[in-house]
Order: sequence, then C-alpha cells, then structure tokens
Amino acid sequence: MISNRLGYFFKDKLEESMISAEKVAHVQLGNNLEHALLVLTKCGYSVIPVLDFEFKLHGLISAARITDSILGLERIEYEKLETLKVEDAMQTEFPVIKGDINPERVVRLLVDNPFLCVVNMENEFQGIITRRIILKQVNRFIHAPVEDEK
Ligand code: AMP
Repeated sequence: MISNRLGYFFKDKLEESMISAEKVAHVQLGNNLEHALLVLTKCGYSVIPVLDFEFKLHGLISAARITDSILGLERIEYEKLETLKVEDAMQTEFPVIKGDINPERVVRLLVDNPFLCVVNMENEFQGIITRRIILKQVNRFIHAPVEDEK
C-alpha cells in the first residue's frame, strides 16, 4: 500500500519514464556468444535482455556469464564463443514486472537489481525501468514545489 507522498509521485511517473523496448539493446535466442559479447561491448552495458523473434523475454546475458561459460580448467576457451548460444549462458531466474507497474515492488526490487524488465501478460518485452530513472524521480521530487508533488 502506498502510504506517502513519494509513493504517489512515483505511481504517476514510472510508466512514462520506462525505457521502451525499441530503445533497449538486446540479443536474440540462437545468437552465439561471440555476437552477444560484441553487442555488450558496443552498447557499453554489463547486462542486456535476451528476446525471441516475437520479442518475448527469455533471459539476461552479461559479459561475466559469457566469460564464465567459456572458462576451461587451465585457460579461457575463446573458440567456444562461436559455438555456444546465448541460451547456454543466460540467466533465467530474475524478477520481472508483468502487467501493472507497482511502484513499491519496483523500488524494492531495484535495491538488488540495476534494472527491471517489464513484460505484458503475453510475456512480450515492453522495456526496462532502471535505478537511474528512480533516482531521477527522487531528485525531481525533493526539488518539486509542494503543489507539484501529487
Ligand atoms: P542505468 O541505471 O542507466 O545505469 O542502467 C542500469 C542498467 O540497465 C545498465 O547497466 C544496463 O544493464 C541496463 N540498461 C540501461 N539502459 C539500457 C539500454 N538502453 N539497453 C540495454 N540495457 C540498458
């Protein structure tokens, strides 16, 4: 239950400040790890979503997970980058915002996650909400005149 002015402020602003799906860097199921590493390096983010050709969300992939999946006993087996697929290395257990965006849940989950994926009831990827968005809203809230806080 949202019980304070900051909560009401978030409720109105969160949905409109989500980074929409078309602006989010992602890789597709079936892409190899070499491609995923290229995308991660080029976009500069440490973790990005894995989607299928229907834009449904399946996982998250990071440079750390890619490196871990090609670690041999004595060396990094770079040749595996070409043969392994993103589904071999992606994280599949992670919190997702489905349907309505509940600001309390979003803020609680962002304590431990740098961003949250938002999907509709069909699991189609809608976009992400990042910590940066929340902090921008907090910053705006603490500088807003009292009458603008509703
Ligand atoms: P930020 O709060 O802006 O630093 O973003 C936190 C995390 O969200 C980043 O490290 C990325 O993993 C992810 N992220 C933010 N913006 C994008 C984007 N446009 N495309 C893909 N991932 C993003």
